Amino acid sequence: MAAEQTRKNQARESASSTFESKKEPDSKRDSNGKRNPDREVDFDSEADLDGKKAFDGERAFTFLKKISFPRLGGSRDEERAANLILGELAAIGLKGEIEEFDVWTYANAQASVEVLEPYRAAVQASAVGLSGNTPVEGLIGEVKYVESGSPDFLQCIEGKILLSSGHLGLESFKKAREKGALGAIIILPPARDFMHISTPPDYFERFGKLPSAFIRYEDGLALLKNGATKVKLTVTQEESRAKSRNIIAEIRGTEAPDEIILVGAHFDSVPLTQGAHDNGAGSATIMEMARYFAAHPPKRTVRFVWFGSEELGLIGSQAYVEKRKDEMKDHKFMVNIDVAGGIIGTNSASVMAPDKIMHYLDVMGKVKGIGLNVRQSIYSGDCIPLGDKEVPSVTFARGGGGAFHLHSPGDSLEHIDAKHLEMLGRFILEFTDEMVNSAVFPVEKEIPASIKKSVKEYLEKSLGKPGKEDQEEKKDDGGCYLTA
Ligand SMILES: [Zn+2]
Repeated sequence: MAAEQTRKNQARESASSTFESKKEPDSKRDSNGKRNPDREVDFDSEADLDGKKAFDGERAFTFLKKISFPRLGGSRDEERAANLILGELAAIGLKGEIEEFDVWTYANAQASVEVLEPYRAAVQASAVGLSGNTPVEGLIGEVKYVESGSPDFLQCIEGKILLSSGHLGLESFKKAREKGALGAIIILPPARDFMHISTPPDYFERFGKLPSAFIRYEDGLALLKNGATKVKLTVTQEESRAKSRNIIAEIRGTEAPDEIILVGAHFDSVPLTQGAHDNGAGSATIMEMARYFAAHPPKRTVRFVWFGSEELGLIGSQAYVEKRKDEMKDHKFMVNIDVAGGIIGTNSASVMAPDKIMHYLDVMGKVKGIGLNVRQSIYSGDCIPLGDKEVPSVTFARGGGGAFHLHSPGDSLEHIDAKHLEMLGRFILEFTDEMVNSAVFPVEKEIPASIKKSVKEYLEKSLGKPGKEDQEEKKDDGGCYLTA
């Protein structure tokens, strides 16, 4: 906000002050015009000079409804969502560019589990995407319970079907393949409905396929309590190479066009869900921000990127940095939004940047009263490939509540409303506005050593990228390859 006096661009000056010099609405003052200290935090009242909100939650929610359908990376539906984003950008007066890249995708994934001995029972299951196919008649094998999938339990597994309460991390996946396990059945946590997620491509490209399926917690418990010894696992899906895409819309800076602040949100989802929190809501949030900056040209360049195929293993953001090796030095900062809009929820900021940004956001969160939990931490999303290229970032998210259903059919619009899209969206817009229009850019281009280490670990263990110590025998903590 302090930056406002330093702005030279007259057009911007008048426009931006409309956003920042919020007039106190009457409800916040008593009849003598004094501030009422006990006023409720009011997220609905602030307006632009022309009477329009800088961030309109209703408008964001309307757009979110348009894109709330399954948008798996590489599918026709992802393409349809991309076209809706392009259309909305055109309506704002921005030209979106599509950048295509190749992904592994899948369709019609099905799975079933049948207990054969010492009793017979059919168990509902869902397939892990890109985990391969069993023969159509299924794979029959002795079942071997391997706890959370830690390598410690992966002994004597040749010809067996693993039963695990967690995803197999890279080392476990590799060990399972090398020691000849036939497949894996993963028990979901209690109360968790079927998840529709996939194996990261680096896992199977390096070590091959391990046909895998999820079963519900109660069913897993029953298998163990009843001593199931032999099961039949069937997994079928159509796996293919396909085109996925990022959508890029840029608003050139009026004073420092070569300094880029990337505002990102992935727009793909997992199959069989609206993907409303994750990340239709983030996609709608940055659209609203694009609308604001199109009308209020920033000092530095703001580049909006809707990333594709995040859920397939951060493929879109990896393609983005790969294509722009030479331009990475111009990327000053990334603002990422991944999971938003929940009526019930908690706002958080995961900071992959110097400490002062963490402190600044902590103060700003308290000043605005949005209950922002700020931590210095990596976030499982598109900030990782950027962080690997030394681009500092903050990822905003609104977790808890309905976001519990991430990557499941329950991630739907019924948990979301305009008010809570606006609550966090306005905060992110205000923070971004301060950053892009700052007198002196306040963040050095450096990432704390502990965060750098976590980024490397994430790339190697969660995504399965070959690392330096790749040849060494390592302990695996059963790392989770879920992305938000
Ligand atoms: Zn996500």
